[in-house]
Amino acid sequence: MAYLSLKNINKIYPNGYHAVHNFNLDMERGEFIVFVGPSGCGKSTTLRMIAGLEDISNGEFLINGKRANEQGPRERGVAMVFQSYALYPQMSVYDNIAFGLELQGADDDYIDEKVRNTARILGLTDYLDRLPRALSGGQRQRVAIGRALIRKVGIFLMDEPLSNLDAKQRVTMRSEITQIHRETGATTIYVTHDQTEAMTMADRIVVMKDGYVQQVGTPRELYFNPVNVFVAGFIGEPPMNFIRTRLSGGKIDIAGKTLDLTKLGKKLGAYEGKEIVFGFRPEAIRLGSHDKAYVLPATVELTEMLGDNTNVYITMGDMHPILKVDPHDTPEIDSEILFSIPYESVYLFDGETEKVIE
Ligand code: ADP
Repeated sequence: MAYLSLKNINKIYPNGYHAVHNFNLDMERGEFIVFVGPSGCGKSTTLRMIAGLEDISNGEFLINGKRANEQGPRERGVAMVFQSYALYPQMSVYDNIAFGLELQGADDDYIDEKVRNTARILGLTDYLDRLPRALSGGQRQRVAIGRALIRKVGIFLMDEPLSNLDAKQRVTMRSEITQIHRETGATTIYVTHDQTEAMTMADRIVVMKDGYVQQVGTPRELYFNPVNVFVAGFIGEPPMNFIRTRLSGGKIDIAGKTLDLTKLGKKLGAYEGKEIVFGFRPEAIRLGSHDKAYVLPATVELTEMLGDNTNVYITMGDMHPILKVDPHDTPEIDSEILFSIPYESVYLFDGETEKVIE
């Protein structure tokens, strides 16, 4: 039996706005799940329904197989870390972390042991006497996490906890939160709009758009087997390149070249004469002409040297894909190049439904 179960969960706000549609998910104990999607897609609403901060309009939320829709946050055993970490400014790190247990009336020795243990996990031992204003953003966020972690709860919820940090702190905190999760084993749901956070931290990712779950899977599954154009374009950086074109005799025309798609071994029968979307990831290509690949010509518009790789912005007719190449192979701006897309790296999608063609 799953630890947490969301069954056909919907949220309709009092103003009639239907923010979440038929959300289904089973979570095992100890899993780290990330909800990801663009702003406004319903991630926070879903998290708040799990937390008990927002009513579930219809559907069922089960904890250990028992209906929990009517339970308050405390009964459900959830702790939540928000975007704005709102520490008590006049209290030391120690007191900020201890606060929740003090409210519960725990005894001093117990609190002391728990605070010190939590501080050790979070690398805050040397900062227990400091006030929040004497900490960096990352340290403050760790205190906020400590304050949530110290109470023994079954479910740990985080809503964009890194969005107030600078880019470098975010990278550090990302791996720290993963580490904390490994040490505590807390069942965690983490909300973010950032696909990199989702990919680097999650056991499984739930991709959402416009209130609907698009796909649930491991980072690997979402990257290699996206179910539709949205997921394919959302996961991966730079995003997958898409070319809309019409299938004719099993072939398509791109930039004056005819590509025989029957070589891909996909079920194309139903798409003859219809529009399809041809997709390939920037990092999946090889420069030059290679076997078992579609070879295409392009003009180099711009190159962006990033250190470990170079993004090459190209033009093919009226299309502007991006290629990712080894920095040693960076082509000259304005040069004409050939590049190869290996057959196994090609994705095809239904032009109408945007679902993947297997
Ligand atoms: P996300 O976390 O993915 O950015 P939210 O869950 O916050 O998205 O919001 C989902 C949608 O619900 C948005 O369109 C938002 O404007 C709307 N929404 C959020 N809260 C309310 C509310 N209290 N009343 C009406 N609509 C709301």
